[in-house]
Amino acid sequence: MRCPVCGFEDGGRYCSNCGALLTSGAEAAPVAGSWLERCPVCRTKPLEETVSRGFLGLTSRQVYTCPGCEATFTPEGGETFRLSKAADQSNPIWKTYGNQTLTGDEWRRIAYGGASDARQRALDIEYALGEIQKGFVPELQVESNAVLLKRGERAVAVIPRVTLKEPRSVRRTYGGGAGPSIRIAKGVYFRTSGFTSRSESHEEVREIDSGTLTLTNRRMVFTGAKRTVNVPLGKIVGMEPYKDAIAINRDGKQRTEYYTGIDNAHLTIGVGGRTHVVPLSGVVFMCMVQGLLNREE
Ligand SMILES: [Zn+2]
Ligand SMILES: [Zn+2]
Repeated sequence: MRCPVCGFEDGGRYCSNCGALLTSGAEAAPVAGSWLERCPVCRTKPLEETVSRGFLGLTSRQVYTCPGCEATFTPEGGETFRLSKAADQSNPIWKTYGNQTLTGDEWRRIAYGGASDARQRALDIEYALGEIQKGFVPELQVESNAVLLKRGERAVAVIPRVTLKEPRSVRRTYGGGAGPSIRIAKGVYFRTSGFTSRSESHEEVREIDSGTLTLTNRRMVFTGAKRTVNVPLGKIVGMEPYKDAIAINRDGKQRTEYYTGIDNAHLTIGVGGRTHVVPLSGVVFMCMVQGLLNREE
């Protein structure tokens, strides 16, 4: 059956992509009531308040346990509870949420087939990225235009304050100076360096320019103070994503171009009535480029 929330095709009772209940809302979580009314692990019995005895019975602590599956929830303050024990360690709820501290509201949602806030956000982002890759690419800050668009071309994202970096080969010379002297024998000293100098080449990523990175349905254009870089999407032969940057390898150019600071821009994604604001990371940018290429085919 098709998930009503994210559209994922799944056979079970709960969508394995977003955690939503697949049996047409027959078991929607009650609007009110305590999360203790249904054990989030076995989803059958209510939880009971018990006192757990500590070492030699010297300390006692109030916990919530399930008489059915023996799951234990420990209060962690501020209306949050940690799933601290489960008899069956192979239980999927334990595997996903074991030792996690969540609010009563989150546990109640989990008890009725939902997910925690963090997991729901991760699932929603994963789902949205899949959609973007398929070609449903959202538009981002396109009202400000830095490039002249050609006929049939539309801006997809305009990202300000991006720094272009490129690797440069740097030659360094070591040695040549006088190092400390080591006494080898009486009256004979040996200088540790100063006899030879060696030279070695290595790559260093240097800032080239800063400006605006525009992604259109056809190309990516960097407009800086000193340089303009125009890359048709079809000429991109490799991309490497970073948390705040995307590295591009393109046809006919040996040097990798790094565009850093793309996470200055944020994307708002909406899945199943929930919205999340996500920084434009290298992974998101890569999915957008892939989506645009898939769409143009
Ligand atoms: Zn789903
Ligand atoms: Zn239980």
